[in-house]
Amino acid sequence: MIRELHNKLVNKEITSVQLTRDYFDAIKKKDGEIGAYLTLTEELAMRQAQLIDERIANGEDIDLLAGIPCAVKDNMCVDGTRTTAASKMLDNYIAPYDATVIKKLKEVGAVILGKTNLDEFAMGSSTENSAYQVTKNPNDTERIAGGSSGGSAAAVAASEAVWSLGSDTGGSIRQPASFCGVVGLKPTYGRVSRYGLLAMASSLDQIGPFAKTVEDCAIILSRISGQDRMDATSAQSADKRYEDYLTGDIKGRKIGIPKEYVENLEGHIRDVFEKSVEKFKSLGAEIKEISLPHSSYALATYYMIMASEVSSNLARFDGIKYGLRINDEAKTEFAKENAVDRNLLETYMDTREYGFGEEVKRRIMLGTYALSSGYYDAYYLKAQKVRALIKKDFEDAFKQVDFIYSPTAPETAFKAGEKTENPLKMYLSDIYTVTANLAGVPAISFPIGNLEEEGKSLPVGGQLMGKWFDEEGLLDAAHTFETN
Ligand code: GLN
Repeated sequence: MIRELHNKLVNKEITSVQLTRDYFDAIKKKDGEIGAYLTLTEELAMRQAQLIDERIANGEDIDLLAGIPCAVKDNMCVDGTRTTAASKMLDNYIAPYDATVIKKLKEVGAVILGKTNLDEFAMGSSTENSAYQVTKNPNDTERIAGGSSGGSAAAVAASEAVWSLGSDTGGSIRQPASFCGVVGLKPTYGRVSRYGLLAMASSLDQIGPFAKTVEDCAIILSRISGQDRMDATSAQSADKRYEDYLTGDIKGRKIGIPKEYVENLEGHIRDVFEKSVEKFKSLGAEIKEISLPHSSYALATYYMIMASEVSSNLARFDGIKYGLRINDEAKTEFAKENAVDRNLLETYMDTREYGFGEEVKRRIMLGTYALSSGYYDAYYLKAQKVRALIKKDFEDAFKQVDFIYSPTAPETAFKAGEKTENPLKMYLSDIYTVTANLAGVPAISFPIGNLEEEGKSLPVGGQLMGKWFDEEGLLDAAHTFETN
């Protein structure tokens, strides 16, 4: 899709300005129902589009992403643009700088249409934790688009952007990709700089692309990855053009299926999944049953480590340094009703009480508890030890196979409201995705089929996980599946 649009641009069949206008028209037409966007950046987009059209007119070479409209999850800083993380805490926050990924995108000439909805601070699986709106699934608007990057996934699925960026801490790119029927890639931890991404859990967070095709994801990854002196955890890596590694041939590659993942798989998802395994076989891949013995601890380990890091990262939102401050002049209803003189501690407490939503508070409390003296060893340290064992499971598995394959999620998109009363049920949605973040391996979700539910056709996603820094192999395998 990106390549075709690029060719049309350079052959002067279309202009970037027209393309960008078309996308804004599509947003205006559809987004009232879908709710993918929180903020539109029309001025920024049109300026960039004009610049690219001028370059084309001057006969300059342009990048594959130049002039192509995209969307960005609203937890990444875009200079001069409102960046809320879908939290009341940052309702009026204007980012004073560009995240590294944004800087890179601007340099290659990508056109940023706007900022997309998410669960508050990326905590959730349905965007129902957004302080603003719930993003609907374009395949069935009674259902959610998944989360936390639901806005980015829905924007692509509804053709309200050619591609988009999301962030993935425990599945937030892959699960909404699966629910919306698009491709979503979580790169290896360290592949993409996190500078300018509002931190959720720093040892797990990674930025990655959503697109309609695997090739598009490869093209985007090539442009956003690389070491960055502003993120000490970004890894040194060769400058690669991942799109050049798509051979379309996976003969002889070994794909492992973890028995722990498929044991309790529900019937209808199982059928689609098994068909996809047969397809991999027919393409010449060797399928092997493998074991990831510590899988049953993955969710508990994730929710312990993630919450601990959340409690530490979100301590910075105290009403003093960033965003909201509850005080007498604040123009919120809460402040008006509670117009009293506050000392420093009361300012902290009231700001955090009003500024954070329920799920964020739940995790801050859980994490603070797990890190408190007396419980640190029993919870946080224990979870770190199990994390090491989970990583070791992957090291052992990757001695036998090249990729690990499973469904992305144990279900198709669920209905709005279905799980909001029961956080544990919501957390179960992440059962197959959190391990890739704990181990740090790259993982991709891509459409493998559809299921009919109540007269609607709902997409099912397959997840391939790869070896650390083997995005080229991973993308090649998914691309081979997709194009055959
Ligand atoms: N759904 C998971 C959670 O709620 C994943 C979130 C994410 O990856 N940002 O923590």
